[in-house]
Amino acid sequence: MKIAYLGLGIMGRPMAANLVKAGHEVTVWNRTPKSVPGARTAATPAQAAENAEVVWICVADTDAVRRVLFGPDGVESVLRPGMTVVDSSTIAPRASRSFAERVQAKRAEFVDAPVTGSKIGAENAQLVFIAGGAEKTVAALEPLFKALGKKVIRVGENGAGESAKISMNLMAAAIFEGFAEALALSGKLGVPPEKMVELIESSMIRSGVTDYKAGFVLRGDWSANFPLRLMLKDIRLMLEAAAEEKIALPALKEIEKVYQRAVESGHADHDYAATVETVRNL
Ligand code: NAP
Repeated sequence: MKIAYLGLGIMGRPMAANLVKAGHEVTVWNRTPKSVPGARTAATPAQAAENAEVVWICVADTDAVRRVLFGPDGVESVLRPGMTVVDSSTIAPRASRSFAERVQAKRAEFVDAPVTGSKIGAENAQLVFIAGGAEKTVAALEPLFKALGKKVIRVGENGAGESAKISMNLMAAAIFEGFAEALALSGKLGVPPEKMVELIESSMIRSGVTDYKAGFVLRGDWSANFPLRLMLKDIRLMLEAAAEEKIALPALKEIEKVYQRAVESGHADHDYAATVETVRNL
């Protein structure tokens, strides 16, 4: 298939590489010029998308997706009937629905397909896609989803993928905050962190989040798998959506303050695991 891949960050670059590996004809674009072996490189999103059957996007946030799709050199100018735009960025569900409508006005298809699995999942083609869009469109993307991940869960129509993704990240942030606070308290009480991790990993408290992060935390390795600035972006998307729906998320409001403090201490580009250090020093 002819695929345009837009956004070559921590997640996008390995995803584009896996599409090349699966034998697809891939053209890539990134705001800061970057390349992927075996793929063509384009100068603008529109140029990358010109002859593509599928345009796959994975950029930082809502404004970045808007720019890539509808900016002066954006994809919109080359949309044709039959083309599909897939967005794997985590962005505001409401904005994603409006982007879908604008793409569909050109008789092209749109699927929001944010991911879970982080850097390692992207590199090993073990991502889980959380899809929102027409059943037929999602089904037609199956070979591409297979090249990039291990599972696709279609949760509903356009915007539903983003809604499920931010709600899921709410749990990731809350579980990790619990881990960070447990380490801070047990550390003050004299329990070595390795013993605390051994205990957590041997009990029902264990989770995928602690499985993934504990080793990094014990080594004090804050290199970004999921940058803290992006988790803070997601926390704000959750709070914004909750305000729109008039529900309270009291724990999350407190967690936002921890992330804000972590950014002020210079951790924005570190992994969100660095909040362990912030919580320890509150
Ligand atoms: P990243 O490494 O920070 O990469 C961000 C990408 O977005 C880069 O290609 C960046 O281009 C581009 N970008 C930023 N602002 C832009 C703009 N205004 N216009 C055009 N391009 C812009 O982030 P990532 O970890 O790959 O995450 C990408 C998306 O996936 C985010 O929505 C994130 O929340 C989501 N996600 C990430 C993970 C994870 O574990 N990392 C897991 C699940 C979902 P430059 O290179 O020019 O800066």
